[in-house]
Amino acid sequence: EDVSSQLTDMPKDKLLGGLLASGFDEGSCLSRYQSSLFQKPSLHKPSSYLLSRLRSYEDLHKRCGPYTKSYNRTQKLLKSHLSASSTECKYVVWISYSGLGNRVLTLTSAFLYALLTNRVLLVDQGKDMADLFCEPFPEKSWVLPVDFPLKETFKILSQKFPHSYGNMLKKNILNTSTVSLPSYLYLHLAHDYDDHDKLFLCDQDQTLLSRVPWLIMKSDLYFVPSLFLMPSFEQELSKLFPQKDTVFHHLGRYLFHPSNHVWGLITRYYQAYLAKADERIGIQIRNFDTGPGPFQYVMDQVLACTLKYKVLPQVDRKRTIGTQSEKANLKAILITSLSSGYFENVRNMYWEHPTVNGDVVEVFQPSQEQFQHTENRLHNSKAWAEMYLLSLTDVLVTSAWSTFGYVAQGLGGLKPWILYKSDNQTTPNPPCRQAMSMEPCFHAPPFYDCKTKKGMDNGALVPHVRHCEDMSWGLKLV
Ligand code: GDP
Repeated sequence: EDVSSQLTDMPKDKLLGGLLASGFDEGSCLSRYQSSLFQKPSLHKPSSYLLSRLRSYEDLHKRCGPYTKSYNRTQKLLKSHLSASSTECKYVVWISYSGLGNRVLTLTSAFLYALLTNRVLLVDQGKDMADLFCEPFPEKSWVLPVDFPLKETFKILSQKFPHSYGNMLKKNILNTSTVSLPSYLYLHLAHDYDDHDKLFLCDQDQTLLSRVPWLIMKSDLYFVPSLFLMPSFEQELSKLFPQKDTVFHHLGRYLFHPSNHVWGLITRYYQAYLAKADERIGIQIRNFDTGPGPFQYVMDQVLACTLKYKVLPQVDRKRTIGTQSEKANLKAILITSLSSGYFENVRNMYWEHPTVNGDVVEVFQPSQEQFQHTENRLHNSKAWAEMYLLSLTDVLVTSAWSTFGYVAQGLGGLKPWILYKSDNQTTPNPPCRQAMSMEPCFHAPPFYDCKTKKGMDNGALVPHVRHCEDMSWGLKLV
């Protein structure tokens, strides 16, 4: 299809079925209006209740956002070290932490928490988040002002931070009968959180937290599945998401619009390499072993998976010339990886041998960055562009444990083939399986029953929260 000619016409479903608010300046964020030209239309309709809650969140954000009267008043509590008082606006401040895929997932978790608790989400962008995403809410920014009183504190937030919810509980400084609460609390929700930090995900604790105007959150976990296990959010969540496995799909498409700079990377790449194909196949290769790779056991796994499940066409190693056909299918394979070795291997395979079915196969890889540079701007832009490009494919293969892959599958509404994590550098058998749902996996959920205060299996409580395909102790919505 010719995308460039469509760009001049008015797209049909510009606002993604009402998911997006109107009233933005179109030029400041082209992706918001042009995404429907590249993305397949979503098969999942957001509930009208979700739409109305998003619109009321946008009003709240307008009233409470940076430098509004309410914001100015509420941040004064922090400046003068006052205790909590009832304020018109309450906030969740999200701290930038970990890789980009992780950040997209934790921002979504923080936003859903803000929706459920009528808080306003503000984002501390850190050094390297500016110019990746457009502003998601009309009129008022979601970026935390640079003169926010606790900015200096952000640098030392960790599991040990004395003003964290978990540590204050541990030292008995806080309990449900505490009369005077602090004006802020730090919520440590990262992989190294302890049993006290995890109490954030218990209903009883939410009552106390609801009285604290500022919650500062640092996380590298998609904790949404555990919110679905909390009785006080249950009813609201089922109204917001009658189809439970669409949380990230809808909220991700609502929140994350590539900035014009990243949109340029995405659209130029798509038009040059992917637009004319009959079928687009994405393969995301992420390896958590040491060294950049490529590794033979990973290459074997990718081929075992994709050939077994007919994601890629077989090659005929006995013949030199394949079937010639007028209407051969053109398949574009988009590989993303820090290393270029897998791409070279697959490309050579389709150059050196004909396909059995006559398919014509082209193989591309946008970048080979070798290793993760978390604080480099162009590196992050490329990572974001690649996640987005993967989301535009028709069939997706992802790597176990990788939030980079989760973002692509969720935005694209795809149930990917997940390459299992390997043990001892060997190819797992079976090499992969198809995901149960397009939702991300919560990698470190608590296994604690808030009521009985005993351990239990949170993956066996309700049918819509299950253990993940790629991590047996993780939880995901299905
Ligand atoms: P995860 O570690 O796989 O869960 O994903 P994250 O996105 O949180 O962190 C990995 C980071 O490494 C990314 O944000 C990128 O900076 C980099 N990275 C990993 N794989 C790729 C890739 O295929 N392409 C690019 N451009 N960067 C990658």
